[in-house]
Amino acid sequence: MTKKEMLYEGKGKKLFFTDDENLLISEFKDDLTAFNALKKGSEEGKGALNCKISKVLFDLLEKNGIATHLVQVLSDNEMLVKKVSIIPIEVVVRNIATGSLVKRLGLTDGEKLPFTLVEFYYKDDSLGDPLINDAHAMLLKTVKDVSELDKLRELGNKVNEVLVPFFDAKGLILVDFKLEFGVDKDGNILLADEISPDSCRLWDKNTLEKLDKDRFRQDIGSVRAGYERVLNAILN
Ligand code: C5P
Repeated sequence: MTKKEMLYEGKGKKLFFTDDENLLISEFKDDLTAFNALKKGSEEGKGALNCKISKVLFDLLEKNGIATHLVQVLSDNEMLVKKVSIIPIEVVVRNIATGSLVKRLGLTDGEKLPFTLVEFYYKDDSLGDPLINDAHAMLLKTVKDVSELDKLRELGNKVNEVLVPFFDAKGLILVDFKLEFGVDKDGNILLADEISPDSCRLWDKNTLEKLDKDRFRQDIGSVRAGYERVLNAILN
């Protein structure tokens, strides 16, 4: 597969055209950003770790009937993916209160939520990715109708139902995570982007140690060491 010109560069990945108009190459970067890119950094090997972790999780989700954009892994930090039109909604799924939820609602950090919370954020850096409701999502024309929002909520819950017991069996707590979806050329909604410690919060079940991007956000230990622990746990 030939890697052609770059289509897009995001904070964590670059997307390249290929000689197949329906396929792109997603290259995972070592760059780290937080707080809407106000904090920047880099960690050698982080892109490769996220590529490997995403591969394991995408394969697991596919096996459980959730369609993803992954076609195959091409190298340490490159994936061949189906070209989709990204729905500009970040679907955040939460099992435990922390992060922006605690700041917004004053809940106790680390408190287990009585039910899985699925939230929508409008994917727009210039606005700081604001939390939106269904009416806002319709107003912004992010989806074609309300049923698509219901579909995103359903998919968020389904991904959670697969990932929570998977991580639990590996000694990790899936605290919360962010998903992005896209629509392919045939109109199918596919899980896109990545699922990695950049986009999930994962805590050690026994010690509650944070193994995800909060290590970078809060300067609490080596990012690489945390991500390596996640990869090793899910490979075992
Ligand atoms: O910051 P907040 O608590 O809203 O984040 C919830 C979850 O969504 C976390 O796992 C975080 O890593 C992820 N997230 C993300 N990209 C964003 C916002 C949140 O991956 N732009």
